[in-house]
Order: sequence, then C-alpha cells, then structure tokens
Amino acid sequence: MSEEKKRVGMIGTKERYFQPEIEMISAGDLADLQLKRLQETVANCYSNINFYKNALDAAGISPKDIKSLDDLCKLPFTTKQDMRDAYPFDLFAINVHDNVQRLHASSGTTGNATVVGYTQQDIDNWGDCFARAIAQVGGGSESILQVAYGYGLFTGGLGAHEGGIRIGATILPMSSGNTRRQVQMMRDFGVDILACTPSYALLIADTAIELGFDPAKDFPISGAILGAEPCSEGMRKEIERKLGVTVVDIYGLSEVMGPGVSCECRYQNGLHVAEDHFIIEIVDPKTLLPLPDGEWGEVVFTTLSKQCSPLLRYRTRDISRIIPGACDCGRTLRRMDRITGRTDDMLIIRGVNVFPSQFQQVIAAFPEVTSYYQIILSREHTLDKVTLNVETVADFDFDEIKKIESLQHRITAELKSNLQVSVDVKVVEPKSIERSEGKAKRVIDLR
Ligand SMILES: [Zn+2]
Repeated sequence: MSEEKKRVGMIGTKERYFQPEIEMISAGDLADLQLKRLQETVANCYSNINFYKNALDAAGISPKDIKSLDDLCKLPFTTKQDMRDAYPFDLFAINVHDNVQRLHASSGTTGNATVVGYTQQDIDNWGDCFARAIAQVGGGSESILQVAYGYGLFTGGLGAHEGGIRIGATILPMSSGNTRRQVQMMRDFGVDILACTPSYALLIADTAIELGFDPAKDFPISGAILGAEPCSEGMRKEIERKLGVTVVDIYGLSEVMGPGVSCECRYQNGLHVAEDHFIIEIVDPKTLLPLPDGEWGEVVFTTLSKQCSPLLRYRTRDISRIIPGACDCGRTLRRMDRITGRTDDMLIIRGVNVFPSQFQQVIAAFPEVTSYYQIILSREHTLDKVTLNVETVADFDFDEIKKIESLQHRITAELKSNLQVSVDVKVVEPKSIERSEGKAKRVIDLR
C-alpha cells in the first residue's frame, strides 16, 4: 500500500463509529431495548398478519406472554416456504397502498418469489445498518462510494445506496456490469469505497491491472464492503492486495432486510449483528433447539424494528455460529462467524455433505492457483463424480507437465483429507472460467 494511502486510508487511523450509542451499548441496555421492541413486534404481527395470528393461537401464545427475552423460544418459526405461500402481500403488516415505500423480491427460481415491503422508517433503519459498514472501512461524509451491486429487486444495490445516503457520502450508482467503465470511473472520480460481491471486486481489480493500472498504488480506493456470496480468507487477501483496500464482509438477506444485518469491523474477526434491529439465534437444524454460543448451526433472525415485513424466528438456512467473547474494536454487538454454507447449497456427494465454500478454503492454501474455480458434478455409472476446475496464476508455466501434475495431485490430496471426497482436479489456464458480474456460478450439477 502506498504512503499516500496509509495517510488517508484505514491503516493507523482511529476506529470510526456511525452510531456509537448503539454499537457500544451495554448488555443491560441492549436487553431492555430488545425486549421492548420484541413485544411491539409480536403485537404488530398478531394484530395485523393473519399468518402470525393463526400460528400464535395454534402455539397457545398471546403477545402478553412475552415477558422476557427467554420467551422468544416459545414463538413459532417462519420458513422461506411460509413467505412463498404468502405471495405477494400476505405477510405484510401494512396495506401495500398505505405507507409502503418500496418492494423488493427474491429471484424465486423455485416457486413464488419472496416479497418484502419497506416503510420509510424501514428504509432509514436499513440505511443505518449499512452506514455502520461504511464507517467500519473508514468511510464517512467525505467518501465517494461506488455501488457495483446490481440495482433492482435484489437488495444489494439499493441497500448500499441507502447506507451512502445515511452517512452522507457521495454515491456513484454504477450497478453491476460494464467493468472497464467501473475501473475508469473508480480512478477518475477518486472513489475510496467500493461495495459489491467479492467475485465482482476481484474482476474489477483484475480488469484494472489488465488495463495497465496498479490500483493498490495509483487509485485512492481504501475500503471495500463485500457480500452476497462467500469469500474465503485467501480471496479476501487477494482483493486487498490487488486493490490496496481493507475488505469487510457484510451479510444480509432480502427476507430479513438486505445487506447490513451484520458486518465485520476492521479486525475482520466475525460480523457484528445489528442487534438493535434483529435478534439472532443459532439453532440445531434438526431439533430446532437453540444452541449455545460457539456452536455451529442454522442462523435464525427475529426482526425488532420492521414495520411492514416483520418476521418471527425466520430460518435463514445459513450455517454459522456466535463467536463468544468481546471484540477488540470496542463494539459490544455480538458477532456471528462467516457463513460456512447454506443448508440449500449443501452438496451431497456419495453421501458426504459438502459446501462449495469448503473447496474455496482448501484451494486458498495453494499460491499457484487463484480464486476462480468451478465445481462440476456428474454421474459416472451410478456414482457421483466431482471435477474441480481451478485457474492458475498468470505466470504459471503450462509447458511443464510434471509441475501441472504435481499441483493437481497435491490439491486432490488436500481435498480428500479435508472433505473426505475424491475430486478430479484440473488446473486450467487463466481466464478459462467464465467471469461473473454478480454472484459467481461455482457449481454446475449435471447429475
Ligand atoms: Zn469488532
């Protein structure tokens, strides 16, 4: 990183907070706030959403029964299927013609889309959550924020945009695509913060380098807020090195709000949950019983401030854990670990459960290869066959067959020992795997 970047950027600068009164709230004050908001949320759900009135009646719970946060576990769960069944507006607490400012929806590749409505207050709260992430990479009202998430029904683009508004930054609403133009404007406009998916950040960095720039030295960019897909530590380091930035991981899902439900601080040691707006639980996906801090399970969120689309105990299908203990940054909001997978994305290969992110973690240890990879599942006779294509770094010598074989052999052995799965590894030349301007397509299932 250049001297200039060190001076203006993150390194050696003081931690920035957007809402210290919340981000450093005491445990007692947070519990009081959460209980008050939980009681309001349950009352809102019961009075205004038939689905919840029926579910609470069936469980024998009335809003008055919520006397402490421990009563949360008495509430029924909400699933993605419940949201699909409610298509389009049956889970809204407000008539869509009244104070609903905006609608977002999931892509709905299987079945109905899940639709979420936002009042102005909901949008402002969302902006606050994302603005905390901007502050965590050193951004503020003087920043120029390049939003390269897609704008549209997907919550990435407009979520980041609202964060920029709340913190008073200058927003460059690029949306995704047109990567050369992204690079040109990043440089010409002096962008200091980028928000997009990790795979797109890498593509922007590589495109800048191809165009003859060294963004780590020549561009003022110093922070990146990346989310909507998993990012291994190796991929994070690669983006940080190529762009000369601090990368923080942001998490969220449209059903619950959008990006900003939780976000890393610059210690990069877990994502602080916006606990003033959400209660997080980790449950055993089979028994649905809450798990203690530190144990891995399915992430469940209850919204605390949403007016239009409140959710009680929404099962995200994402796998994570609560990281015990305090963070060095001084924030008191609890941290969840990075998502290791989704119960949806889990691949079952010859009876073994594997997440695509585990492949990424293994290959990150090999300096000869990059973060561009693809997993191809096929069937040979009656057995599953797994092929991993992974691109090498630019200066890898493809003329030396022995070197290629040795590398493939070592990656295969490491995958076997980590995942208990036999994988046919093929190292391929740079740029032979299709690039993505949004979420990367990591798995091709031909079975
Ligand atoms: Zn922290």
